[in-house]
Amino acid sequence: MFNPYKFIETKKLGLAHSPNSINDFIKNFLADNVENSQMSAWLMAVFFNGLNNLELNEYVNSIISSGKQLNFSKLNGFIVDKHSTGGVGDKVSLIAGPILAACNCYVPMIVGRSLAHTGGTLDKLETIKGYLGNIDINEFKKNVIQNKISIVGQSKEICPADKYIYSIRDITSTIDSLPLICASIISKKKAEGIQGLVLDIKVGNGAFMKTTEHAKRLGQSLTALGNSLEINSQYIISDMNQPLGKSAGLWCEIEESINFLQNKNIDKYLYKVVHEICSRALKMSGQKECDQLIVNAIESGKAYEIFEKMVKTHKGNLKSSYKENIPKYRYTYNSKKSGYLSRIDTEKLGYLLLEIGGGRKTTNDKIDPSCGLHINKKLNDKIDIGEPIIEIFGNNKNKIDSVEKIFDNIIFISNKKNKDKRPIIYE
Ligand code: URA
Repeated sequence: MFNPYKFIETKKLGLAHSPNSINDFIKNFLADNVENSQMSAWLMAVFFNGLNNLELNEYVNSIISSGKQLNFSKLNGFIVDKHSTGGVGDKVSLIAGPILAACNCYVPMIVGRSLAHTGGTLDKLETIKGYLGNIDINEFKKNVIQNKISIVGQSKEICPADKYIYSIRDITSTIDSLPLICASIISKKKAEGIQGLVLDIKVGNGAFMKTTEHAKRLGQSLTALGNSLEINSQYIISDMNQPLGKSAGLWCEIEESINFLQNKNIDKYLYKVVHEICSRALKMSGQKECDQLIVNAIESGKAYEIFEKMVKTHKGNLKSSYKENIPKYRYTYNSKKSGYLSRIDTEKLGYLLLEIGGGRKTTNDKIDPSCGLHINKKLNDKIDIGEPIIEIFGNNKNKIDSVEKIFDNIIFISNKKNKDKRPIIYE
């Protein structure tokens, strides 16, 4: 007979679990024979004492087998996905996905919602009027085969154990545990049936990882787990000390992604990250001249065509979304002095977006699809007094009216240019 008390005690004492006991624990949890409080206690014990490789493998496999798995083995093409650890203005999935699909790859992409100060791809996609992000696994598979890409949220059929455990981690301060993060992310990737995965580990003051050492450790752990499950996995570390691209928020990020895919007004920082991820994925797929493939996918309009088709298949209506997502209120933050943009507190900027309606404080909060910001300057850019730096917008007048003072603690101008050049891609 399985004894949850003894099981929790093992990890509390820092000992290794015996083979199959993690599997028993997860199965019993899903069968309601383990209480949420017992799961919380175990998660906290894992937070402090970790999991060894054997335990991590058993844990991730139990999560995967709690739901269904996709199998695309009959398709003639590389099955690939990318994953970001999250940031502000990070719309890379919306752009890289269609580019890869335009380059002989299949992209079954399960994405998340906004988390803390970071934006979520699913929330952004759902600002497209009618877009269905929660479809069942058979429809998801059908869409991938038909359009080469489908972007959805995690349904109850995919890694349900992760869904329940994540909601407990979220309220018990056990999100930031390396083995739990790795198992949660990689289990869903394995369930997608992918062959290759490129992980974008964000680092900086707008990322969860504040130092490159921490980012590297996460990248190495994620790729090790991915490779152990026969997903060809690589990671990059990219900068998140300022919003990525020209916009951050909800619908405005869809607009920027559409412009990018239509080869209009492309931000060079955003291009670098998209390019690095796509070229790694395409090399993994065994294709040659990847740079040219990426350029062709954009310039020929094929990547945009695929994005448009995907949206249509998910019942989204782009045309009416443009009209419906026009924000009612705007505020422009102009520079109070001349100099160089020396620092942006990107995490605070993300929380400001959440505050004006771009994220949720509780699970039932409604988000304002129109809200977001446009940023005109990059770190180290020269700025004149009175020059507009950021325009922020949304439908909540009171919130928009109250943002001015907050910006004084987000945007910093210095007299001197910073001599140290910060790379966009660290590794
Ligand atoms: N994203 C996930 O899916 N799981 C985690 O644990 C953290 C981020």
